[in-house]
Amino acid sequence: MGKRKANARLRHACNTLLMGILVCIVGVFGARMLGSGAPAAEGPGAEAAGAETPAHAYTVVVDAGHGGVDGGAVGSKTGVVEAGLNLTVAFAVRDALEAEGINVLMTRTDEDALADTKQGDMQARRKLMNTEGVDLVVSVHMNRFTDPSISGPMAFYMKGSAEGQRLAERVIASVCEAVGRPVRSANPGDYFVIRESPAPSVLVECGFLSNAEDEALLQTEAHQQKLARGIVEGILAYLAEGSGASASPGTALSESGER
Ligand SMILES: [Zn+2]
Repeated sequence: MGKRKANARLRHACNTLLMGILVCIVGVFGARMLGSGAPAAEGPGAEAAGAETPAHAYTVVVDAGHGGVDGGAVGSKTGVVEAGLNLTVAFAVRDALEAEGINVLMTRTDEDALADTKQGDMQARRKLMNTEGVDLVVSVHMNRFTDPSISGPMAFYMKGSAEGQRLAERVIASVCEAVGRPVRSANPGDYFVIRESPAPSVLVECGFLSNAEDEALLQTEAHQQKLARGIVEGILAYLAEGSGASASPGTALSESGER
């Protein structure tokens, strides 16, 4: 109960960020109409039901946001481009997951997009997320907002997805801990990679390129490694709890709305 109230308070704070976050997210997920109609499936159990799933059997899709002509957000001070930072952190996440014996599928492994057109790029990402046996998806992004004082990581899950919410809460908690920030709640959203994934999916905004301190930190290898470690610890915590661990009334934070 107390936690829920705290969450509600955080939601107020976070709501004010949502418009700014759209700068980043709409850029990538402008093609979201593309997949409209596909309902968000629930739970890692769907594919893996009854499977023995020891740790080495897990498969995780790691999505480095943007790529190609779509660079994403740009750093206010240095002009650093989001797409490159996403890829660096995504590689660190991949390496740490593989060190845990987890299979990793990367949506991209270089600076290019997955196709010549935005639509083609999104279709390719969706196809990979729909690979049989995928247990969860993590999408790596950097944030931007009009108020340069706003900083720190955030995580989004598909609103209404209890499993996505549980995953996002584990990930944001461990990311905040890894970088020494107060823990934020995960936020519900409705974006391409979290909606089009049949497996639970979390979109991680590692920090704000509109905040000078974040912008500098996000370009250091030490901070990138902390972020990756936090993301992986959150994923491991989620997997350790097993599928269906989310309590049924777990949509307290979701906005009511179109779905
Ligand atoms: Zn982005």
